Amino acid sequence: MKYVGAHVSAAGGVDQAVARAVEIEATAFALFTKNQRQWNAKPLEEKSIEAFKAACAEHGYGPHQILPHDSYLINLGHPEREGLEKSRAAFLDEMQRCEQLGITLLNFHPGSHLNKIDEHDCLARIGESINLALDATRGVTAVIENTAGQGTNLGFRFEQLAEIIEHVEDKSRVGVCIDTCHAFAAGYDLRSEASCTAVIDELDAVLGLNYLKAMHLNDAKSTLGSRVDRHHSLGRGNIGLDAFRCLMNEPRIDEIPMILETIEPEIWDKEIRWLKAQMPT
Ligand SMILES: [Zn+2]
Ligand SMILES: [Zn+2]
Repeated sequence: MKYVGAHVSAAGGVDQAVARAVEIEATAFALFTKNQRQWNAKPLEEKSIEAFKAACAEHGYGPHQILPHDSYLINLGHPEREGLEKSRAAFLDEMQRCEQLGITLLNFHPGSHLNKIDEHDCLARIGESINLALDATRGVTAVIENTAGQGTNLGFRFEQLAEIIEHVEDKSRVGVCIDTCHAFAAGYDLRSEASCTAVIDELDAVLGLNYLKAMHLNDAKSTLGSRVDRHHSLGRGNIGLDAFRCLMNEPRIDEIPMILETIEPEIWDKEIRWLKAQMPT
């Protein structure tokens, strides 16, 4: 079973995200558990935690269908001590929020070297940042998202994701989320069924599909290999619908949340319906 949904707003409280997912008939959803553009957030209130858990239970969303995303400010590979410590503390807070909410996955962008340290040093720092967070929490898997490779962001090649995972001690609590727009912008051609399957083969060879814990389904305004992160609605960008049809029929991708971060929330319900219709019956 493939679970499809979108990154819905949590305005008004995390339980409101569940209601928004239900509205678009999503079988999975993503959310921010705090304001993604601020460092500090007040702790989750007990009544908010209870309301979230009750809503998930009522509508049948299990932990394998929920993919929170961390704050955009966090850089787990930060070259400087102050920035690194601040990021690690904020990431731990994000992991703890997931623990409180009974969520088992946390999706995050790996980090950026800011032209101050080399790539391997940065990837090692990211691995160590993950180790620190995993040591201090239980039951939450750190899900590293591939990037478009914009600016000094790392994690745009599958080999870089594999290198981060090599540094992680508890391999049972680390995985990856593959964003189709980011992969395409990083040079992975997904445009035909054959090329899309070849990319999945490559992911399996380089990393192992056992690490694939989630996907982001986005078409791309950016072009192949452009290293520019610009999402588009499904079928309206440079990737095209064949890729998404291929993914919905890929038997090796199963039981994971597949999340839209496309640019027109008003058509998410249609996109979800279309994705569901592509699955084999
Ligand atoms: Zn994404
Ligand atoms: Zn993106």
